[in-house]
Amino acid sequence: MSDQSMRVTGHCRCENNPVRFEYTKKPFEVHYCLCTDCTDTCGGALAIIAVVERKAFRITDGENKIKNYDTKPTCHRRFCGECGCHMFLYVDAFPDFVLVHVPTLERSQDVGQKPDRWVFTRSKHPMFTIPDDGLPRHEGWAGTANAA
Ligand SMILES: [Zn+2]
Ligand SMILES: [Zn+2]
Repeated sequence: MSDQSMRVTGHCRCENNPVRFEYTKKPFEVHYCLCTDCTDTCGGALAIIAVVERKAFRITDGENKIKNYDTKPTCHRRFCGECGCHMFLYVDAFPDFVLVHVPTLERSQDVGQKPDRWVFTRSKHPMFTIPDDGLPRHEGWAGTANAA
């Protein structure tokens, strides 16, 4: 499957008329995020984020249900106003990308990339232990080594 022909779909948790979205190009990169914005907003110990080119991403259904919450003035998080599912976000520093929460994508699909690093380890929840997966760990933000 070439980059151009891939199609990865995701949706919120609503049983009726869920928000649906998709991307059609291999993500630029995927990482594990331990920042408090991601973890506190989602109620999880970590976030798995796929960084997808905006022009390869689109909302295909239920756009009217999408609400925004800014966890920082520069960080715009989109969630479903009905089921509360936190799906993706826009960060001003990366205007050409949308950051997709991987668990909202269909689990049967190949996301297109594997996580390549841990970021914001200094914000890690004290009850969470980072597994010994051999991936680089960064205290704050660090870009991917993956960049072409
Ligand atoms: Zn929903
Ligand atoms: Zn984060």
